[in-house]
Amino acid sequence: MNVSERLKQTAREMPEKDAYIFQGERTNYQTFDASVTKFASALKNLGYEKGDHVALISGNSPVFMIGLYGALRAGLTVIPINPTYTSKEMGYILKNGDVKGVIALDMIVSQLDIIDDDLMVEHYFVADTGTGVNLDSYSIAPKMKPFTETVASGSLDFTPPSLDEEDLAVVLYTSGTTGKPKGAMLTHKNIYSNATDVAEYLEISETDRVIATLPMFHVFCLTVALNAPIANGGTVVIIPQFSPEAVFTAARDYKATVFAGVPTMYNYLLQTGDGQEDSFGHMRINVSGGSSLPVSLLEAFEQKFNVRVSEGYGLSEASPVTAFNPLDRPRKAGSIGTNIINVENRVVDELGEEVPTGEVGELVVKGPNVMKGYYKMPEETSVTIKDGWLYTGDMARKDEEGYFYIVDRKKDMILVGGYNVYPREVEEVLYKHPNLTEAAVVGEPHPEAGEAVIAFVVSDDPALDEATVIDYCKEELAKYKLPKRIEFLEELPKNTTGKILRKSLRDQLSKNL
Ligand code: AMP
Repeated sequence: MNVSERLKQTAREMPEKDAYIFQGERTNYQTFDASVTKFASALKNLGYEKGDHVALISGNSPVFMIGLYGALRAGLTVIPINPTYTSKEMGYILKNGDVKGVIALDMIVSQLDIIDDDLMVEHYFVADTGTGVNLDSYSIAPKMKPFTETVASGSLDFTPPSLDEEDLAVVLYTSGTTGKPKGAMLTHKNIYSNATDVAEYLEISETDRVIATLPMFHVFCLTVALNAPIANGGTVVIIPQFSPEAVFTAARDYKATVFAGVPTMYNYLLQTGDGQEDSFGHMRINVSGGSSLPVSLLEAFEQKFNVRVSEGYGLSEASPVTAFNPLDRPRKAGSIGTNIINVENRVVDELGEEVPTGEVGELVVKGPNVMKGYYKMPEETSVTIKDGWLYTGDMARKDEEGYFYIVDRKKDMILVGGYNVYPREVEEVLYKHPNLTEAAVVGEPHPEAGEAVIAFVVSDDPALDEATVIDYCKEELAKYKLPKRIEFLEELPKNTTGKILRKSLRDQLSKNL
């Protein structure tokens, strides 16, 4: 079983039921499933075979859903990519991921056009978003196929290839501390088990309408707000771009029952929620994850909207959910909850031994949701998965009742509005500037985004200013990775071996605050 076959089953059982709602238009399971089969058949007709890789570069839309489930039905491996990435960032993933086909929205074709020469891409399936882009002017025009026409050209008479549970369903690229993004290989078993285990744990059923406003290319949305409801016959209410108005309106209009968001979203909804107190009137569960949800925010949100907010925890490498506040027991503010079905979390010391209850150690995870490894990175894989346990790099503790609490991140990752920013990736861009001799990037608490990226640099040009450095970074980095502020120093603090001490930079920031 895989998520795409499960969709077929649901379509047989409840063909008329709404699978998703997009811009006011409802699409039932039968129609959705038919598009998925046709796209799978069209891919096969174009020479795509089990195991080929396709990238999916799209915002939240039916294109994403049909593209994902269609490619999976054809036995292909899907690599979702953030559409706000620069050409360079996309190019790295397309090349490293051995991508043969790309499903993309028309507005990013110009970015793909620049990097095509360096890639092995055979087709670009381009979705028309009504922007009126003249696609014929691009050099990749001969490789382009309109997405909608491609789907329409497929047949309903299609037999999916037989798949093994260890076959790859999705490869998720996460930025690595080495600066090179790593592709977490998630098998059909990984993706299917987490979707169905989350659906069971959260009791998601055909009576649920789930708001999908988190980006679908991120595993949090992919599993919680997409695969889980589709597995159990729920309806996905697609919101292309997050805004509090869009969420409140959708929640009211469609009597939404499940909301999934990162803490930043909860904060925005709270800040702008006057007069909207009844909008969440039908919400059964409000899921928070991606970074820690401040207790004061959780409590204020619950009080204002008269709802319950349940925090959970996950990571790309675990497809992603490992822990969640249970529905049948009290939710504990500040806790990520207990083990979900089939998954075991443990807090261990440096030797991998479980620490006593209440003590802090690294959180490790075991279960059917744990990735196969990093694509083409066996060494990275062997330091991340040891004896079947996935080392999360997050420090945590457990209480007597089996509830876990995330204490801090072991790694230096910065979380900006739920997105990962790894300091090293930003630093490498800064180091490339001809007048910057040293650079270190750390996170600073930020009231809206959770954290902001702050760069400490040493320059040999006294005239170099903050705006110039930030402009320079804009050419290489997606907006959310850009430094918010540049601090110019005489030199960076280092330890005796010459390693830059990010901790003392962080301390300096907190002293200033
Ligand atoms: P990603 O791979 O993008 O899903 O990011 C995973 C990371 O997000 C984890 O390793 C944690 O550091 C962080 N994270 C996810 N959920 C939580 C949470 N509820 N509390 C604190 N950190 C979290």
